[in-house]
Amino acid sequence: MTAHFSIAIDGPSGSGKSSVAKTIAKIFGLFHLDSGAFYRAVAYYLNHLGVDFLNDGQCQKALESIHFEISPIGIVLNGHLVGEEIRTSENSQIASKVSMIRQVRVFVTKVVRELSQNQNVIMDGRDIGTVVLPNADLKLFITASIEERARRRQEEMKQQGYSASFEEMLKEIKERDHRDISREISPLKPAPDAILIDTTDLSFDQVVEKVTTIIQEKINR
Ligand code: C5P
Repeated sequence: MTAHFSIAIDGPSGSGKSSVAKTIAKIFGLFHLDSGAFYRAVAYYLNHLGVDFLNDGQCQKALESIHFEISPIGIVLNGHLVGEEIRTSENSQIASKVSMIRQVRVFVTKVVRELSQNQNVIMDGRDIGTVVLPNADLKLFITASIEERARRRQEEMKQQGYSASFEEMLKEIKERDHRDISREISPLKPAPDAILIDTTDLSFDQVVEKVTTIIQEKINR
């Protein structure tokens, strides 16, 4: 085991991994980093700057102008607290495209590694167990059927006050899955040593209980 305990949680869009990671972080007193939020924040920022994503020079220059910090209430980009604006359907699609760009991946990987070093951390994303924290003490891959993920995403949008049809959510998730799985750099896949958890027929509390048991077993070993 490394000096600091680290847990990597990967999985596709809408699998609920970030909510699980957040709750597990509270239970075990771990620092939680949602790497997807960084891709979302970068996407939002580049889009608002009007950066041409396919222009390497423009992209690099914009990335070099970003400074991330973590405050007790969230991620801060160049002094501005990042809020719910990164969670809209529009920005979800932009983030999914922007995260295919090599420079963006290199940048976010560096940022989340630096922010999590020297801490007991639980980090979630798509490539945490495979690329970002390949030496994590525990790797989990959380998934669910595509229909269940679309249903959860629809529920989440509803709670945020947005209306969205199940069909729209299904389409959005299918597109994001396709980009995540088929991209050349750091595609979404379970690390060979990851424990797979299918949450399709599990409640949120059941998933948390399952993950808690796995962590306790790991700690007591
Ligand atoms: O997890 P979340 O859906 O918030 O992530 C936003 C987008 O960022 C995803 O669609 C995914 O393509 C990308 N992402 C990634 N690698 C990560 C985390 C997120 O490519 N480690």
